[in-house]
Amino acid sequence: MSIIVQKFGGTSVKDIKRIQYVAQTISKEIETGKKVVVVVSAMGKTTNNLIELIESLDKNYVPHEYDVVLSTGEQVSAGLLSIALNKIGITSKTLLGWQIPLLTDENYNTAKIIDIDVRVIRKKLQEIDVLVIPGFQGVTEQKQITTLGRGGSDTTGVALAVALKADECQIYTDVDGVFTTDPRVCDKARLLKEVSFEEMLELSSSGAKVLQLRAVEYASKFNLPLRVLSSFQEGEGTLVQEEKNIMERPIVSGISSIDSEAKLTIRGVPDVPGVAAKILSPISEAGIEVDVIVQNISADNNTDFTFTVDKSDANKAEDILQKTSQTLGGGSIEVDDEIAKISIVGRGMRAHAGVASKMFQTLAKNEINISMITTSEIKISVVIKKDEMTKAVKALHNAFDLDKELDT
Ligand code: ADP
Ligand code: ASP
Ligand code: MG
Repeated sequence: MSIIVQKFGGTSVKDIKRIQYVAQTISKEIETGKKVVVVVSAMGKTTNNLIELIESLDKNYVPHEYDVVLSTGEQVSAGLLSIALNKIGITSKTLLGWQIPLLTDENYNTAKIIDIDVRVIRKKLQEIDVLVIPGFQGVTEQKQITTLGRGGSDTTGVALAVALKADECQIYTDVDGVFTTDPRVCDKARLLKEVSFEEMLELSSSGAKVLQLRAVEYASKFNLPLRVLSSFQEGEGTLVQEEKNIMERPIVSGISSIDSEAKLTIRGVPDVPGVAAKILSPISEAGIEVDVIVQNISADNNTDFTFTVDKSDANKAEDILQKTSQTLGGGSIEVDDEIAKISIVGRGMRAHAGVASKMFQTLAKNEINISMITTSEIKISVVIKKDEMTKAVKALHNAFDLDKELDT
């Protein structure tokens, strides 16, 4: 049996018209004799609306109940798509996470997939052509419903494709594929025909939400090529796969940007061994993920310590820092949520010096001040003011000639 997995994101199923259009797209695959496992996101902004409802009641909600509410979004779109498929004569059925079962751990809100039993899926596909599976949801051993974190339907799609040893995994979205940068931020963004797993991992981890980071990690681990495509118009999209031996490659392949983090600074803490651990341990014990970190040394043996966290964790992190400051004998705490992080990513950086200085010079020429810097082997990130984000992305896109195809 030849199976393909097709995942459709929220905008692709945002209303009945789009759902009918998606049904047509799936029918083309059926005509070629394939069986299709379809994974859907919740319709349009449904998940955001559900979160608003929860938070209007209580911001300190019980994580399990959050998943009970959020997982409903995908169930609606899955059922509707299956009805739309039946209506055009395609045999289809919805299979919910617990019916498979798609087993996860108990980390509510960001659960990890442990196992997918594909027997039921395979059996049902002997009888019908399409199974529609709601993305983003799973079930624990204790039969509690879980969700996989924002953007998690991508991971459902990839994990199902791996478990089913599918011929292909196609991720349909609202843009033509993976671009050199978010096409909604920079109109010169260029569609990439191919991206390596390594680069996609860095782009996703630094804000390119076109693919959820965990989905790329999963695909890379099992070496499953992904094709990112538009559900709105035909095209080849982008193939995300293991790096091929390319002789020529651009120094920088892509730029990502996020403005969803906040920067916290604790001033005047003693500059002694162990201070970073004392500041950051309580933060991580509270389950808060820290991104960029900078420690400054001042002349009087005191130091300012700055780090970024997701905005949703900023209040909690600030409270923790207040306590830390009291015990360490530190000074004031400052929180700035008007920041953005811009990252440039490229495997070609390894072989080229001067990429960082070109990045910094470009920002300087545009009078954009950098407040934090962090680097990895194939990525350089800077934290700047939020209202300079678009300007910075456009300037860097231009400086690294990302709008131009590489001559090989
Ligand atoms: P879906 O609902 O299909 O999962 P998402 O909204 O999660 O779609 O992801 C698609 C969006 O990702 C695009 O609309 C685009 O604004 C954004 N995006 C960010 N960086 C990139 C990039 N490098 N290439 C393509 N899209 C990007
Ligand atoms: N509906 C979920 C979200 O908005 C999962 C997804 O769309 O991938 O994050
Ligand atoms: Mg998404």
